[in-house]
Amino acid sequence: MAWDFETEPEFQEKLDWVETFVREEIEPLDLVLGNPYDKSDTKALDIVRPLQQQVRERGLWAAHLGPELGGQGYGQLKLALLNEILGQSRWAPTVFGCQAPDTGNAEILAHFGTVEQKARYLEPLLNGEISSAYSMTEPHGGADPTLFKTRAELDGGEWVINGEKWFSSNARYASFLIVMAVTNNEVSAYQGMSMFIVPADTPGVNIVRNVGIGTEPEGEGSHGYIRYENVRVPRDHLLGEEGGAFAIAQTRLGGGRIHHGMRTVGQCRRAFDMMCERALSRQTRDGPLASLEIVQEQIADSWIELEQFRLLVLRTAWLIDRYQDYRRVRKDIAAVKATMPRVLSNIAQRALHLHGALGVSNEMPFVGMLIGAESLALADGPTEVHKVTVARQVLREYKPVDGLWPSAHLPTRRAEARARFAELLEHEVANS
Ligand SMILES: Cc1cc2nc3c(=O)[nH]c(=O)nc-3n(C[C@H](O)[C@H](O)[C@H](O)COP(=O)(O)OP(=O)(O)OC[C@H]3O[C@@H](n4cnc5c(N)ncnc54)[C@H](O)[C@@H]3O)c2cc1C
Repeated sequence: MAWDFETEPEFQEKLDWVETFVREEIEPLDLVLGNPYDKSDTKALDIVRPLQQQVRERGLWAAHLGPELGGQGYGQLKLALLNEILGQSRWAPTVFGCQAPDTGNAEILAHFGTVEQKARYLEPLLNGEISSAYSMTEPHGGADPTLFKTRAELDGGEWVINGEKWFSSNARYASFLIVMAVTNNEVSAYQGMSMFIVPADTPGVNIVRNVGIGTEPEGEGSHGYIRYENVRVPRDHLLGEEGGAFAIAQTRLGGGRIHHGMRTVGQCRRAFDMMCERALSRQTRDGPLASLEIVQEQIADSWIELEQFRLLVLRTAWLIDRYQDYRRVRKDIAAVKATMPRVLSNIAQRALHLHGALGVSNEMPFVGMLIGAESLALADGPTEVHKVTVARQVLREYKPVDGLWPSAHLPTRRAEARARFAELLEHEVANS
């Protein structure tokens, strides 16, 4: 039997260290430092660099990568256990060198980049010296890449990019952007789009607005609405093959989605812990909230949803390690993607509610969690699209029935069974 739900003692020791380190050293930074992607914030860097050094010394830096890229090669299952802890803090992924969207960008640079591209863009990214952005979604049709209009055309030795992109996270802090553009209108979008590495200071990369989430003040958000106006990049800034953008995007988004799932387990756990603490602490005339059966039901529902989701994430991580091929685990990754916003939203909403007015106030993190859950339902594609993927993949394992009646139709099955055992049944009847 190969099923095993235990963590190796040596890795558990590392996880125990991470748990304490995140709680004591990193979580306080969430309360006083600005945006983790802003590499011009030297004060933040002075505090964070020594912490990153400790992570390296513990052999936990960039744990999402293989050893050939300076990572640990732990695989996705161990990464899931680690990310569950890191997901509880805003700064923790950056301190551990595994923050999205840089992780996904690093992954495609590692897979598809040339030696020169890796030296110029991947290495400083892996060393945490720079930030990056991924610029795919367009304002008029985000969830459907076949509607994209941004074009790249060859002019002499350069690609010239024109178009608009929407919600490119961290664009304002990025040193380079990975941009998806149409390079051939004659073929389907699946063969006609290419990826480009665009240094952020290239003339024509114009951020129209830095869009914020929820109640962030206008203009102070970090999701770039970008207009690319005659942006010229050298020919060698094509990433991968011309026309290869779709395949590249799948590599990137497959990893990115499961990593979000792992961190979301951490977010759910955080909300759940707060809910339980509140239930035991807040008194009513009949005793603590925890003594009310209606509250117990909320706690039980939350625990069950969290455990189900966590097991789905861990099993999917295990499958990725096993097959080493995101395409073979598409259904499972899509299921994680479709499940995570609902579970986080359910648990955070119940936790918020049990905290009363304090829960809805800006003195607790629940409203941010609810908006985070809604963001998870959109970033990397809306839930509906992922449910369609799950259903399509599942249906491949089935075939239609021949004839009028379902294969489980009882009269038909009974007749077949009677026919099969007719001789025996007649014999039994004759003997009785
Ligand atoms: C926090 C956050 C960060 C993001 N970061 C990035 C980033 O770094 N880079 C980037 O390129 N993009 C990024 N995005 C954009 C994200 O990929 C898009 O929001 C997503 O693909 C949906 O596109 P849209 O917002 O244009 O919604 P639309 O395409 O307008 O869809 C709106 C709604 O319509 C419905 N819908 C649409 N299509 C279908 C369908 N086929 N089947 C059923 N229902 C459908 C769904 O309910 C969907 O929620 C980010 C988004 C968020 C929220």
